[in-house]
Amino acid sequence: MKGLIISFAMFLMCGCCSTECAVEKDVRPSAYVTTLVGTLSDYNLSTGNTYPAVALPWGMNFWTPQTGKMGDGWAYTYASHTIRGLKQTHQPSPWINDYGQFSIMPVRGVACFDEESRKSWFSHQSEEARPYVYSVYFADHDIFAEMTPTERAAVMRFTFPESKESGVVIDAFDRGSMLKLVDDRTVVGYTTRNSGGVPENFKNWFVVRFSSPVSAVEMTASPAKYKAGSMCLKPEAVKMVEGDHAIMKVHFATTRGEKIEAEVASSFISEEQAFRNLKEVEGRGFDAVKAAAQQRWDEVLGRIEVEGGSEEEMRTFYSCLYRSTLFPRKFYEVDAEGEIVHYSPYNGKVEKGYMYTDSGFWDTFRCLFPLLNLVYPSVNTEIQAALANTYRESGFLPEWASPGHRGCMVGNNSASIVADAILKGITPKEDIELLYEAMLHGREAVHPEVSSTGRLGHQYYNTLGYVPMNVGINESAARTLEYAYDDWCIAQTAQHLGKSDDAARLMKASENYKNLFDKESRLMRGRNEDGTFEKNFSPYKWGGVFTEGNAWHYSWSVFHSPEGLAELMGGRETFAHMLDSVFVAPPIYDDSYYGFRIHEIVEMQVANMGNYAHGNQPAQHMIYLYDYCGQPWKAQWWTREVMKRLYSPKPDGYCGDEDNGQTSAWYVFSSLGFYPVCPASDEYALGSPLFRKAKIHLENGQTVEISARDNSDENRYVGALKFNGKNHDTNIILHSELTKGAHLDFEMQDTPDKTRGLETR
Ligand code: CA
Repeated sequence: MKGLIISFAMFLMCGCCSTECAVEKDVRPSAYVTTLVGTLSDYNLSTGNTYPAVALPWGMNFWTPQTGKMGDGWAYTYASHTIRGLKQTHQPSPWINDYGQFSIMPVRGVACFDEESRKSWFSHQSEEARPYVYSVYFADHDIFAEMTPTERAAVMRFTFPESKESGVVIDAFDRGSMLKLVDDRTVVGYTTRNSGGVPENFKNWFVVRFSSPVSAVEMTASPAKYKAGSMCLKPEAVKMVEGDHAIMKVHFATTRGEKIEAEVASSFISEEQAFRNLKEVEGRGFDAVKAAAQQRWDEVLGRIEVEGGSEEEMRTFYSCLYRSTLFPRKFYEVDAEGEIVHYSPYNGKVEKGYMYTDSGFWDTFRCLFPLLNLVYPSVNTEIQAALANTYRESGFLPEWASPGHRGCMVGNNSASIVADAILKGITPKEDIELLYEAMLHGREAVHPEVSSTGRLGHQYYNTLGYVPMNVGINESAARTLEYAYDDWCIAQTAQHLGKSDDAARLMKASENYKNLFDKESRLMRGRNEDGTFEKNFSPYKWGGVFTEGNAWHYSWSVFHSPEGLAELMGGRETFAHMLDSVFVAPPIYDDSYYGFRIHEIVEMQVANMGNYAHGNQPAQHMIYLYDYCGQPWKAQWWTREVMKRLYSPKPDGYCGDEDNGQTSAWYVFSSLGFYPVCPASDEYALGSPLFRKAKIHLENGQTVEISARDNSDENRYVGALKFNGKNHDTNIILHSELTKGAHLDFEMQDTPDKTRGLETR
């Protein structure tokens, strides 16, 4: 692997062929990643709504510099000038916000204590933002701070100035927290802060151990009433503070350049377990932990090697792959006996086995989970075991988990995620029957407290074949379309498991999308209980019967049967014409359902692609539908256009919410030249590969090698494809063929080939 990395490094960095040069310029995949992509965002316009997560892949804890105020979902924004702390975070999205968070901030000066008085100016010029390390210079304190992660712990290193007033503030946040000094180097605490989706007894226990003894301590549980510097205690006099908002400042007298390290770990189970998790870093030292973290990222990112693109494309690709391998996060720990255990965010007990969380399946079923199934299936094996545990502990599969069930979005798309894994042989055998039962249960039940879990409106859907728009259930057409696809996913699983009665019944239900098709507009349209269609229909209206999109976006949500949809629309020509129309239509909108222009609407407008809205998930498979109507060259042209115009390695490098790997995984797949339009099928639809060469190292030891000679921005059209040396004239390649190891040799050209790929399959 290393040799290959050197070889593409050579191409990139030098453009020369000298071996000497190549050795000098060894570039590791992690070196291409910047974690700042997507951070130039705010409430009104998202260019990713991400934060620079320092973490290991799928790690239990992430860390981020905190520019926003305590509780602000926009935890780190690129346009900010000051940082308030280095925060342990579990936030999947600013809209869902954080839980179990606390901050650590090195300071100099007596008056530096709460988040306002301790914050410091910083510059992006003195900041390094990598997956395995974040470092920054706190100008107001003259302190250089670094942090590097393991899965459940981290090491921080602070380089202090000469001062008798150096210190580190540990802020356990408000709404119930505790801090105590347990010896002259070790602080223990808990935070209970959360944004919902947790049992009553939820706590994140943490331990912070410094490499030097502390000289004095200040602490309070009500910082608003506390005057910084007024109560410095000797360590031996310190007890614990517990209350609304525990903050502690530990003091050090430092010489110029003195480095103090802090080992930090946490646990959702107990204080004792937090100390056990501390063993991930205990005594290893900052540099060793950092080197191991970088190596782990190289291993995970290096599973896909690409070469023959621009430096910017390399940086975009690996930054996207980094974001595709963060969520869902591990929410399990290893107990004293070495057993996998987890605090259940569903029943509040400590349970055996895996748990993962922090993913919205409405987003991530589309291509993030298929990417795991192709490149990182062993991770999804654990996730599937965790989904079985979620059903055992809560009676439902999750739809949006953070850490427990959260009310957000629509659909029952856990079915897609469960089915795709079963059909691709990734689910643990012992969990298959239970997960099948869970899918069937979810289609006829609604969680009593979280109505977006299960299927809201299932009674209507199962009798009328759609969720009506006039029975008090919002976004009814979006629900119907997704339920129909979800039924197809369950049907495929039933077929696979030999349950043919279920399969037949569910296949019939999977055609329910037809019930919302309006011949007049050739689009999907809301329908009343009496069968009449929505009056005053506007295809430009966002929300209403749809979710964060309009009829132009949502009408394509027939993942399992583009051919069936084409037939409804009047044939392949009309279908292609309807696809064209999305780009041709001006970016007009009706935001009356929301009462204001939601950020997704703005993101569609500013992209200058008509009514195409790549910044939100409903449209993200749409371009690939050109493969199903005999015009694949348009899929090739538009996917390259989206990669070029709507992605970059810059702080505004996404065109909307990144959404826990989904929007990133779109780029990863698309740059490889194919995309899973219909998860739970064996198929990928072809696009246009971005790089001249790519190599996917599969976990089974096989490799998928993709070459695209003469590829360039102009030569973005596929003239021919050889699959394992044989001419491949259709637009579909099979997962089951790729996993045997495969060679895909594309011939690229600058004009559309209107003779190739006219047949889909
Ligand atoms: Ca979204």
